[in-house]
Amino acid sequence: MVSATIDNIKIEVPENTTILDAAKKIGVRIPTLCYWKDLNDIGACRVCLVEVEGYDRLLTACNNVVEEGMVIRTDSRRAKRARKNNVQLILSQHKDECPTCVRSGNCSLQTLANTMNLEDSPFEKELPAIEKSDASFPLIRDYTKCIKCLRCIQVCDKIQHVNVWDVVNSGGNSTVDVADYYTLKESDCALCGQCITHCPVGALVERDDTEVALHAIYDENKTVVVQIAPAIRTAWGEPFGMNAEEATIERLASCLKRIGVDYVFDTNFTADLTIMEEANEFLERVKDRSASRFPMFTSCCPGWVRFIKSHYPEYVDNLSSAKSPQQMFGAVAKSYYAEILGKDPKDIFVVSIMPCLAKKHECAIPAMNDACGDPDVDVSLTTREVDRLIRMAHIDPKLLEDTPLDMPLGVGSGAGNIFGATGGVMEAALRTAYFAVTGKNPDPDAFKDVRGMDGWKEVSFDLAGTTLRIAVVNGLGNADNLLKALKHREVMYDFVEVMACPGGCVGGGGQPIHDGYSMKQERADVLYTQDKNSNLRFSHENPSIKAIYEDYLGEPLSEKSEHLLHTDHHAWKMPNED
Ligand code: SF4
Ligand code: SF4
Ligand code: SF4
Repeated sequence: MVSATIDNIKIEVPENTTILDAAKKIGVRIPTLCYWKDLNDIGACRVCLVEVEGYDRLLTACNNVVEEGMVIRTDSRRAKRARKNNVQLILSQHKDECPTCVRSGNCSLQTLANTMNLEDSPFEKELPAIEKSDASFPLIRDYTKCIKCLRCIQVCDKIQHVNVWDVVNSGGNSTVDVADYYTLKESDCALCGQCITHCPVGALVERDDTEVALHAIYDENKTVVVQIAPAIRTAWGEPFGMNAEEATIERLASCLKRIGVDYVFDTNFTADLTIMEEANEFLERVKDRSASRFPMFTSCCPGWVRFIKSHYPEYVDNLSSAKSPQQMFGAVAKSYYAEILGKDPKDIFVVSIMPCLAKKHECAIPAMNDACGDPDVDVSLTTREVDRLIRMAHIDPKLLEDTPLDMPLGVGSGAGNIFGATGGVMEAALRTAYFAVTGKNPDPDAFKDVRGMDGWKEVSFDLAGTTLRIAVVNGLGNADNLLKALKHREVMYDFVEVMACPGGCVGGGGQPIHDGYSMKQERADVLYTQDKNSNLRFSHENPSIKAIYEDYLGEPLSEKSEHLLHTDHHAWKMPNED
C-alpha cells in the first residue's frame, strides 16, 4: 500500500494504482477523453492532467501511478486551465456539427466541453481537406471529426487482431487512417464495428440506411416485413432509459407498426432453422469423418466469415454451409411466406434489425438471392438505426402497449434466443443434436458450460457414447489465437463456435454505445433469463419450424433446404483474397 493526499484528503491505495483510480475512490472524477480502461491508457488527449507537488510539469492521471507521499491536486487552477486549453485545441480540429451528428447526446467530447464552461476558442479551426471515406461501405470514417484518441487502433489491433487502423504521416500532419495505403473498402476490415463502439465521438459510424427502409414503407406496392435479431431485445431500449421488462420485442413491434411496417417477425425463428440445418450438417460430417473437414466452424456471424476468408482462407471449407439466420429469414420470407400471403416475392421488402455492421455487407452479397433473384434481405439496420427511426417518428416507446409478433415466422425458441450471446449457438445446436442422436431431449441446461464471457472456452461432451470436443470463442483476437493453435496442431476440436464481437452479438458493433463500458454481460443475462422462462427451449420443438419442414422444405438438408438455407462461401471474395 502507498499513502498520498488528493485534494487535501489522505488516501491509502495498493501499489500501482493510477491517480485516476485513486481519485475515484474518494469521489473525484478526473475528466478523461481518450482513456478506456485496460485498452487505451496512453494520456494522448491530456485531458486528465493533475498537479503534483514537487513536479515541474503536470501529470496525466490515467497512466501515472500514486507514489508514496505524493500531494496531488486535481482541482488546481493550473491543472484546470491546461485541461481547458487542451479541449479547446481538440475542438479546433473537430467539426462540431452537434445538432445533426448521430452521436449528439452520446458524445464524450460534447459532454466534456459542456462541463468546462468554454467560451470562444482562441484557436483557429483547422479541418482536414478529405471529409469522409467511401459512403457506400457499411463503415464510414469522418476525417473532420477524428480527435486522434487512438482507441480505434487499439481495439482493432489488440482485441480483434485485424490491424486496419494506424497513425499515418508525421508531426503536425499525423492522423489516424487505414494502414498500408489501402482504402477502408479495400482493407481486411471484418465489419465487426468495434471501432465505432469504442470511438468517443462521431468519427466512425455505420452507413445510415434508415431512408432506404422508410422509402419502402412509404411505397404502397411493397409489403414490408421486419425481422428482429435475438440481441436486439436486450439492448434497443437502453437509449430510452427502458429496462429489459419494458423494452420487450413486442414493444419494439408496436413502434415498428406505428412507423408503418406491415409484419414484424422474429429472427429467433430462423435461428431455430439454422440449428436444424447446422446440427444435422454436423452429424452428417461426424458420420463420415474421413471425408469431412474438422473442426466444423459455425457460420452465422458474417464478421467471422469475412475474417476467416481474408486471414485463413485455407479453413473456409471448415465453415458450416448454413446461411446466417438473417439470410435464412430473407430466403424464407420471399419464398414460403410469399406463398402463404399469395404475393409476388418481388413485392416483399425485407428489413432486418441487427446488432451488426457485417450484416449490412452480408445482405449485399450477390449470391444471397436464392428466393427470387432479388436480394433475399433488402436492408439491414443496426440497433442504433432502429432507435433513430423511433426518434424520427417522435414515438415514446414507454407509452405504447406491447403488440404480439405476427405468425407464423414470429415464433422462436429459447435456444434461438441465446444465439445473441457467446456460446448460445453451440448450446442450441447441442440441444438439438442430442435429440437427433438419441430421440430424447436432454436437460435444456445440460450444455451450460459453454456459457460465459471468457474469450476461449473448451468443453467435452458425451453425445450417446461419442466424445465431442467443443470450443467457443468470441472476439476475433481469440479466433486468431485458436486458428494459429489449430494450424500448429496444438489443439483439436470437432465443433467450434466463433462470434466476431466480444461477448457475441450482445456486444455487437451496431448496439447502443456506452462510452468506456460494454453492456455485454448484462445483455447476455437477459437472454439467458428469457430462455430459462420460455416454455419452448428446443429448436426442433418450435411448431413453426415443424410446419415449415412439413409443408415446404421437407427435411433438414433436403434439396429445397440446401437451395434456400445454405450457401457457398467461395461465391464471393474479400478484397485481398486470392
Ligand atoms: S476515429 Fe474515433 S476512435 Fe479513432 S482515433 Fe479518431 S476519434 Fe479516436
Ligand atoms: S470494424 Fe472491426 S475490423 Fe473493421 S476497422 Fe473496425 S475494429 Fe477493425
Ligand atoms: S458477433 Fe454478432 S454483431 Fe458481431 S459481427 Fe458477428 S453477427 Fe455481427
